[in-house]
This record gives sequence, C-alpha cells and structure tokens, in this order.
Amino acid sequence: MGEAPTPVRVVVLGGGTAGWMTAAGLAGLLPGLARVSLIESEEIGIVGVGEATLPHIRSFVERLGIDEAAFMKATHATYKLGIDFRDFGRIGQSYIHPFGSFGEEVQGVGFHHWWLELARHGLARDLGDYSLAVAAARANRFRPPAEDDSLASTYGYAYQFDATLFGPFMRQFSLNLGVERHEGRVVAVERDGASGDVTALVLADGRRIAGDLFVDCSGFRSLLLGQELGEAWEDWAHWLPCDRAAAMPCAHASAELRPYTTATAMPAGWRWQIPLQHRMGNGYVFSSAHLSEDEACAAILAAAEGTPLAEPRILKFRPGRRTRSWSHNVIGVGLASGFLEPLESTSIYLAQMAITYLIELFPVGGVIDPRDRDAFNRLVDMEYDRVRDFLILHYHATTRDDSDFWNHVRTMQVPDSLAGKLELWRQAGRIAKYSDGLFYDASWIAVFIGQGLLPEAHDPRTALIDPNALARASERLRLAVAGEVATMPEHREYLAREAARLAEAA
Ligand SMILES: Cc1cc2nc3c(=O)[nH]c(=O)nc-3n(C[C@H](O)[C@H](O)[C@H](O)COP(=O)(O)OP(=O)(O)OC[C@H]3O[C@@H](n4cnc5c(N)ncnc54)[C@H](O)[C@@H]3O)c2cc1C
Repeated sequence: MGEAPTPVRVVVLGGGTAGWMTAAGLAGLLPGLARVSLIESEEIGIVGVGEATLPHIRSFVERLGIDEAAFMKATHATYKLGIDFRDFGRIGQSYIHPFGSFGEEVQGVGFHHWWLELARHGLARDLGDYSLAVAAARANRFRPPAEDDSLASTYGYAYQFDATLFGPFMRQFSLNLGVERHEGRVVAVERDGASGDVTALVLADGRRIAGDLFVDCSGFRSLLLGQELGEAWEDWAHWLPCDRAAAMPCAHASAELRPYTTATAMPAGWRWQIPLQHRMGNGYVFSSAHLSEDEACAAILAAAEGTPLAEPRILKFRPGRRTRSWSHNVIGVGLASGFLEPLESTSIYLAQMAITYLIELFPVGGVIDPRDRDAFNRLVDMEYDRVRDFLILHYHATTRDDSDFWNHVRTMQVPDSLAGKLELWRQAGRIAKYSDGLFYDASWIAVFIGQGLLPEAHDPRTALIDPNALARASERLRLAVAGEVATMPEHREYLAREAARLAEAA
C-alpha cells in the first residue's frame, strides 16, 4: 500500500449557506484528504435569503448521512413539489412546474405529444391533471415518492427552509466533523510572488490563516475571486433585467400549508411566496430600471397575505457569473462565483454542484492539475448557461404587454442557445436533449405549455390513433393520478407525523 497523501489545507472564506455546505461537503466526503477551516464574520453577516431548493439537495443531505426529519425540524422546513407560476404567460393563467413527469411515453412517443394531439381535437384536460406532483401540490398533500416504478414514484421533492437556520445547522454538522471555525473579518490576502496563488488570509486582529486551497464563499463581495484575483464578470442584465428584491417575512394567513413555492408575475418582475412551518417568506424581485425601491416595498406590503413580521428589506444583485469560477488555487462557490435570480430556486443548487464537481476534481495531495481546473470551469459554465436560458424563457414566452418591463422581455433578443431550443419546440414540439445539467424535458414542457406557447406541429404518429381512444386512455391516467392523491396525507399532517416520529426516536 502507498503512503496516504498529505491532507490538503482548505480554507473556506464565508459562513453563509454556500460556505457551510462547502465545509460540510469537503469534510464529510473527503475524510483524510482535506483539512477544512472556515472563516466567517458575524459583523458582516449573511445574505439571509435563499429558502426554496431543488430536489438535488436531498442527495447532498443523504450523502452526508444527515437525518432528514432532524434537519427539517431544525430549519423549520416544509416539503416542495414544484413552483406555481401565476400570470407569466398572460394575466390570469397559472401552471405548476413540478418536480416530476407528465404521463409517460407510449410507443416511444413522449406524453406531451399525445396531449398536444388531444388538444388539437379539443379533448385535452389541463396538462397538470396528468402529473402526480402537480395534482398533489394543488391538493396540499404530500408523501415521499415510492421507490418502485409505479405511478407513485413519478415525482421528486425538495425543501423550503429558513435561510437563517440552515447555515447554523450545517455549521454544527461541520464542527462535529472536525472543521475549524475562525470568527473575524478578512482584511488582507497574502499571495505567492511567483505563482500568484493565495497563501493566507489575514484577519483584522492579525491572525493569519494559511492554506493550500481557498474556497471563496464570501457572497456578493467575492473577496478572493472577484476583488483579489480580478476574475472578469460576465453580465447578463440585458436578458435578466431584475436586479433588486424587496424581501419580507409574514405570518401565515391561513391554516393551509402549501407543498410548493408560488411565483406571481408583477408589473416589473415577480414575487415569491415560500411557505415554511412557522412563517411565509415573501419577496418582490424587480427591475430597478422599471420600479423604484419604495414602490417595490409598497407593492410587497400590499400583496403579502399575512401579518408582516419585519419591514421589507432591499437586496441588490446583478445577474451573471465570473468567467472562471476556479482561478489559481481559489474556487468560488455560491454568490461569490455568480448569481441567477431565484425564479427557479437554482442558486443553492449551483453551489451544491460546484461542491460536487470540486470533490470529483479535488487536487488530492495539493497539486492542482490545470486540466481539472479547466474541467471544473467548463462544468460550472454549463450549469449556469442552462439555468440562464431556462429563466429567460419564463420572461420571454409571454403575451403580456401591460408594462414596459413585460414589453422589454417579450421583445428582447434571447441567447442563441435559447433561440435554438425555442425553434425546435415551435416547429415540432421537441425538446433539445442533453445529459448533464438542470432542467430536462418535463421542465421545458411545463413552461412552454403552461405559458401558452404551443408548437405548430407535434409527433405525427399520434394522429394514427383514434382520438376518442386516446381520450379514454388519458382519462384513465387522470383518474389514477387523482386516486393516488386522495391516499396522500395533508402536507401539514405529514410534517406533524414526521415530527412525532422524531420525538419518539429521541
Ligand atoms: C433575493 C434573493 C432571493 C434568493 N432566493 C433563493 C432561493 O429561493 N433559492 C436558492 O437556491 N437561492 C436563493 N438565493 C440565493 C441564496 O441566498 C444564496 O445562494 C445562498 O444564500 C448562498 O449565499 P452565500 O453563502 O454565497 O453568501 P452569504 O450568505 O452572503 O455569505 C457570505 C459569507 O461571507 C462572509 N464574509 C464576507 N466578507 C468577509 C470578510 N471580509 N471576512 C470574513 N467573512 C466575510 C460573510 O460574513 C458570510 O458569512 C436568493 C438570493 C437573493 C438575493
């Protein structure tokens, strides 16, 4: 047996969601290979938003061996089956983008083609009626999916958690794994004169934290990647004009607890509602070129349904990413590497993917292979680009002409990569295939059809079947979905059951 490699000294700068996820991920999944320390500053604090997630977070929680019920209790989390989009395609229209499929492929033809054929004959019901995730969400019911290949297995779920509790939970978890925590503000960065690599971070009280690898999780400040290394910023504001949010928590207005996030289009952007166990998160994401901060605060106060628990708080951001997320021996994770607005709850996912890729390409022993660094940057770029195109679609696929904001996004030129996907859909009802990254067929179909963008043609094989036979088959599916939903507990009841189970086990 060869000698064990010397553990790489990893210094994580920042103790927000990204920082503590990175520390937990590296310490938990690279035992013996990484010696992790983390610097955070209470004086600076964290961004304090970021409450809705994607199903991928479950694999992160599971891989680290975190007990889901304990995690949910500690972060006051709820389950999430998708996002309810309201008023995006046009005012009055709504659809759910589910974490799950619509129907199933028959004779090699995707379900949506059969649905489009039914629609051509005026026989289609709402597309969501054929999705278990959508139907369960609408009924406020939840149960984890079955682990077989039955109808009950055709969806996934994510969490909605309190952003101010998630970091501390991951912090405790990381400390238990041996992560060393340093409280203090970084005021200087030391670098190697020859290579330009970062060698240590200096805190305000003079402490010097040395390392081999530095993960920049300093949030929008991007202290290492942006400020110190000067990595260029690719700006996407011309496609995603929202650059502010007015966030405000509220008490729940009713006893119902939705197992989904709501995104409602507004005259200059959209607003979120994220139900947690103890409160509702609200925020208006808007374009400052089209709405003032005062107007946004007034709008969120007027729209929020429950009693406000705090004044609206303005957050400023720019959409885009650093051209390289890994430069020298610095890797940016979270807001330090880029930001895409929370319309599809993708930011924590992007941090998680960066951590996963870093683990896969980790410089064991401390020597960085430039090919691994390039591979990391390519993967991160791909993830960002996929999300960016999907977000732009929500704005662009609209008939809304009731405000300057919607006129702008409806008529703007979209990236070529999205234009190609739109063309393929318009002509043949097809979705561009890819094997990595986010958002597969069902997601694109949900938004295209949900926002009223129907293709000119669909798979011609669907016309070979008698439309009435097709309608009967789809009705059987709809009834099966409805029957399954009827057996699921209410979301609130399921949460209470899990909490009781946890208490009993303690
Ligand atoms: C309006 C809005 C809504 C969002 N909603 C969602 C959502 O629904 N879903 C989702 O996935 N994501 C969402 N996000 C993104 C999400 O909030 C972030 O991805 C997530 O919180 C990670 O943030 P972070 O850890 O990178 O940064 P931060 O939370 O800002 O943490 C930065 C850390 O760096 C430390 N730091 C900075 N400078 C120094 C220094 N000089 N010395 C020492 N420490 C320092 C800070 O103290 C802090 O600990 C949203 C973001 C915004 C703006």
